[in-house]
Amino acid sequence: MAQTDNKRFFENLSGAGKAIAVLTSGGDAQGMNAAVRAVVRMGIYVGAKVYFVHEGYQGMVDGGDNIKEATWESVSSMLQMGGTVIGSARCKDFRMHEGRLKAAHNLVQRGITNLCVIGGDGSLTGANLFREEWSGLLAELVQQGLIDEEASQKYSALHIVGMVGSIDNDFCGTDMTIGTDSALHRIIEDGWEEKMCQKLSAKRAGMKRLNIIIVAEGAIDRNNQPITSEHVKNLVVQRLGFDTRVTILGHVQRGGTPSAFDRILASRMGVEAVLALLETTANTPACVVSLCGNQSVRLPLMECVQMIQHLYLIKYNNNTNVFVCTCRSFENNLKTYKLLAHRKPESELPQSNFNVAVLNVGAPAAGMNAAVRSAVRVGISEGHKMFAVSDGFEGFYKGQIKEIKWADVGGWTGQGGSLLGTKRTLPAKHIDKIAEQMRKYNINALLVIGGFEAFLGIMELLAARGTYEELCVPMVMVPATVSNNVPGSDLSIGADTALNAITVTCDRIKQSASGTKHRVFIIETMGGYCGYLASVGGLAAGADAAYIFEEPFDIRDLQSNVEHLTEKMKTSIQRGLVLRNENSNENYTTDFIYQLYSEEGKGVFDCRKNVLGHMQQGGAPSPFDRNFGTKIAAKAMQWISKKLNESYRKGRVFANTEDSACLLGMRRRALVFQPVVQLRDETDFVHRIPKEQWWLKLRPLMKILAKYKTSYDISDSGQLEHVVLNRPKQSEAMAAI
Ligand code: ADP
Repeated sequence: MAQTDNKRFFENLSGAGKAIAVLTSGGDAQGMNAAVRAVVRMGIYVGAKVYFVHEGYQGMVDGGDNIKEATWESVSSMLQMGGTVIGSARCKDFRMHEGRLKAAHNLVQRGITNLCVIGGDGSLTGANLFREEWSGLLAELVQQGLIDEEASQKYSALHIVGMVGSIDNDFCGTDMTIGTDSALHRIIEDGWEEKMCQKLSAKRAGMKRLNIIIVAEGAIDRNNQPITSEHVKNLVVQRLGFDTRVTILGHVQRGGTPSAFDRILASRMGVEAVLALLETTANTPACVVSLCGNQSVRLPLMECVQMIQHLYLIKYNNNTNVFVCTCRSFENNLKTYKLLAHRKPESELPQSNFNVAVLNVGAPAAGMNAAVRSAVRVGISEGHKMFAVSDGFEGFYKGQIKEIKWADVGGWTGQGGSLLGTKRTLPAKHIDKIAEQMRKYNINALLVIGGFEAFLGIMELLAARGTYEELCVPMVMVPATVSNNVPGSDLSIGADTALNAITVTCDRIKQSASGTKHRVFIIETMGGYCGYLASVGGLAAGADAAYIFEEPFDIRDLQSNVEHLTEKMKTSIQRGLVLRNENSNENYTTDFIYQLYSEEGKGVFDCRKNVLGHMQQGGAPSPFDRNFGTKIAAKAMQWISKKLNESYRKGRVFANTEDSACLLGMRRRALVFQPVVQLRDETDFVHRIPKEQWWLKLRPLMKILAKYKTSYDISDSGQLEHVVLNRPKQSEAMAAI
């Protein structure tokens, strides 16, 4: 591993002579295929042999054809498939010593001492046990004459890495297990629910009562008795007389194609798993790779397993609240959900006498409405009077301001676009009128939800604070834009929905060509100068190249990409996918690239092009954007309340310090408030992007998975950490996910 400055690169990290087996076990989950694909390709990339173990532990016990060497091509077209292509099973034999002995024999015979297990807590518990027993199992095999002493020495250490694949998000130490996000997609896609929700909210607007009741399959009451959906239905019908229907989602949640989030998570984790295996020494414990906030981490498998057992005891041996078990993020989500779903009677609400205005600025982004709903309801719960400004700063100076009540935002979570109305207009030219409106409505604080214009707009307001005292109030910005180009935040509301729109379209376009042979698609994505959508969308869709402004390319790069793709298309691979950000290069346009690939690919493949355009702003927001919008806006409102109280003196609010105007962003694993002024130095104003963008580090992953040799900076890859029940306060970012 080369060491330059503080950076670590792995181009010389070698897996030569190593054999890695990958298996999926337990219940299947969307994204497992993406993880398998990443393990196989990364394994082959570093020179290791990679084996599929079909049908989970059963295949390992049975051996034979169940354990097969994988090739680069054997995982192509796998990314978009639901479930698990290599099969998963529940396996009684592996719970028995005899079964594990057979499994060990099968592995040793093939020289496999690296095992990558993708499954839930049961599967990982089994993996841990297997590792602990390994040397004993080898001794037994020697005793029985099944292997010789030399083999037992040579394969004396079994390295294991786990990845959590489970739609239940029930694994401690990880924020999101592979498959959870897709399951959430299926839940919100359920047509019946959506219809009922719309009808009820229309009919009961103003006096909204129960709409949707979601019952988890494992829900239990205080006495550990199961709460079934039938039970809930009967209760609602008998007590309230509402017409009530029950739908059991069941396998709907496992079906369909994996979401962009799950594909990216699984691809990152798969590559990370291979790295973890290569870096394993005799002294490092077996680990689980996972994501905390936006950061990869490694956790000791043993600690995870112990924690699961501990939680199991909490769950079943005493009557403590089950929610303490899972994770802080879950607890926080539940708290926010309760706060937003149930209106307190007017008499129980505090009275703050503060007025807070909310506005959307810039282009619409899915999840903006969820953020507004959350801000309005949290604000009302804290006693403020909430005002909605329509059409951004333009509506502000024109006086389009109205009080907004609890019921006005009912049903907003699932709606796309901006219901308030949003415009790109900046405030500088109309500052006097804006100050006048602030005075007229006695606005004591501002919440601005939007993209790069929102950021610029707040800076313009700040610049005018010296002239207009009305602007000396707390202001907070929450990033919301599909482009994900706001400084101070790794992610913005709306970007996940855009990624899903891109991947769904790429899947569809690829399928449209089924039957025809060898075709390359050139797809143009949005984002201004920011290459996030092209790069991360490329990772999720399995692209061969993604051209962006941040990573300049010239004719030699284009030539080598075309040649690389042509070589690939001469093998069994039939589809090529090339993404291009709209502003990646003013001369190498989408048409140019299309024509170049068409000409050079003659005789091997043909080309199609597609400009995705505004469909990337998405219809309904993805579950991630709904949750993220809801959580981040709630946090922003709580900050406003705190700042209002701090800056209230002698009958008025006066806030003029840098930290009275902040941007709330996700940074690695935490949600942090950063003074807008301080973000100036981090911003490239000409191209409207942050000077440093974390996701550029993901680009090599896409290249590796597309069979390119590339340099990959792994200084940021997961460090070994410890499992704790309640993480310290800093890691609130995960609560946003
Ligand atoms: P999940 O991994 O999704 O939690 P299961 O609990 O069904 O699913 O576990 C999957 C498989 O992992 C089991 O069928 C079994 O082969 C293996 N396994 C689970 N728990 C253990 C254990 N305690 N010891 C050995 N193997 C286990």
